[in-house]
Amino acid sequence: MTAVTQRSPVAVLGGTFDPVHLGHLRPALELLQNLGLAELRLVPGRVPPHRPPPRATPDHRLAWLRQAVDGVPGLHVDACEFERAGPSYTVETLRRIRAEIGPERPLAFAMGADAFRGLMSWHQWHRLTEYAHLIVMERAGITLHGLPAELARCLSERRIERQALRQRPRGGVRVEPVSPVSVSSTGVRRCMAQGLSARFLLPDGVWQAIAGAGVYGYPQP
Ligand code: ATP
Repeated sequence: MTAVTQRSPVAVLGGTFDPVHLGHLRPALELLQNLGLAELRLVPGRVPPHRPPPRATPDHRLAWLRQAVDGVPGLHVDACEFERAGPSYTVETLRRIRAEIGPERPLAFAMGADAFRGLMSWHQWHRLTEYAHLIVMERAGITLHGLPAELARCLSERRIERQALRQRPRGGVRVEPVSPVSVSSTGVRRCMAQGLSARFLLPDGVWQAIAGAGVYGYPQP
């Protein structure tokens, strides 16, 4: 495990977290450990600009996320996108965190390979690497073949090895293997909508809280 120093990267994992599940948490922990991150901030989005509105309220999504990482060193929840008015733009979040940590410390934005495939629809996507590296986590069933030409060029021009994440503050794209965890929020919601338990797809305490909240069409006890 790489020692954490003043130059250790800060990473951000943005998402809807509707709800948080083990496919977010296990890869997040592996990034923290394998990349020697100073911390990994999970940033839930209030109004995701490029997808249908979340099913659960912001308060619920935030509470479950906090509960999921409670007591886990290095994994923190940053509610900054809930505190800002308007849509949740990642570029704004990265600009704010860059201003907070200064120009020299490496900053990285992590996303699953599915999110990377859709990156060109994101607000000012070209500018993300002005503030941070991108870390593309491999995700079960998602390939990086057949990307749109502009995104494929971005990947081939910016692709870096693991150690380069700590040597430069921003600008690279790292494709990082993580344990494949074939869980999605869609799968959790679908399961609950059918009245089935989603236990073991997410931390047990979080499952108890969600099951008791009467959300996602799951029968309340
Ligand atoms: P939904 O099914 O509602 O689209 P999701 O499971 O993809 O949701 P998000 O909150 O949208 O969850 O994901 C946040 C980030 O975590 C995204 O970058 C996504 O690619 C990544 N991610 C989610 N699940 C996994 C997984 N099982 N493995 C790797 N990355 C994941």
